[in-house]
Amino acid sequence: MNQPVNIIFPHNIRLTVKREDLLHPHISGNKFRKLKYNIIQAKEEGKTALLTFGGAFSNHIAATAAAGKEYGFETIGVIRGEELVNKIGDNPTLAFAESCGMGFKFVTREAYRQKTEEAFVNELRNEFGDFYLVPEGGTNHLAVKGCEEILSADDEWFTHICCAVGTGGTIAGIINSALPHQQVLGFPALKGAELQHEVAIFAKKDNWKLVDDYHFGGYGKINTELVAFMNDFFEKTGILLDPVYTAKLFFGVIDRTNKGMFPENSNILLIHTGGLQGIGGMNRELMRKKLPIIKT
Ligand SMILES: *Cc1c(COP(=O)(O)O)cnc(C)c1O
Repeated sequence: MNQPVNIIFPHNIRLTVKREDLLHPHISGNKFRKLKYNIIQAKEEGKTALLTFGGAFSNHIAATAAAGKEYGFETIGVIRGEELVNKIGDNPTLAFAESCGMGFKFVTREAYRQKTEEAFVNELRNEFGDFYLVPEGGTNHLAVKGCEEILSADDEWFTHICCAVGTGGTIAGIINSALPHQQVLGFPALKGAELQHEVAIFAKKDNWKLVDDYHFGGYGKINTELVAFMNDFFEKTGILLDPVYTAKLFFGVIDRTNKGMFPENSNILLIHTGGLQGIGGMNRELMRKKLPIIKT
């Protein structure tokens, strides 16, 4: 569903939001798209368990846990950070995943870095049996295929399509299904990752660019300016943003709009990739630091 943003911007620029956050109550936004064909594949292979990787506040962990519950798979989450083992109850993401039936393996940061290595995966197979492996963040060819379904035929009138970038799978799907006259802009939520390369692995065209100026210090990092922006945007539009990805995207697109960096009369589509489950964990951090919180 596309929702116009009812705010007047300079240069006759119009913003519209694709509400992927409304796709499913728990398998949020792009994570639904990324899991879809992987789940079909896992069923075809006769697998009964999904195993994947993520950090303590990961939207992907929450989505995989919910998908396992809905589609009848056991789920195993390999979580970065051994210290979390006794803190599941304090972490809204992990508590939710556990309530969906996900089992956890908490590993050190060093061990987590080996997650793509064969020896590490073999150890996991010895421990958990014959699972279907979903990579960190869910990105693989089947995930990109699912993300190619985000745009539809009635999106052809947009001049620009903007989305947040984590591992790059979502934007790759969007690039592949965008039309030749459309420019795709990605706003990385991380600092200094080699995302250009990651996106290029799956992208079949070159009508795209990454805008690196809005990561706010790095992955999961936010400041009071961003929180104030989120609260103001929610008040004006009724659209809730997540602090890790979409807030930075929307902030960046609106900042560039106000600075005249888009051509006059641009019709910009912003992809709301969901991730709202992350607000709870972020607000706990903000409260601990006695900072203003994200209003919901
Ligand atoms: C995971 C996530 C992204 C990033 O998607 P990638 O395919 O990893 O680039 C963007 N937005 C939200 C809300 C997410 O949860």
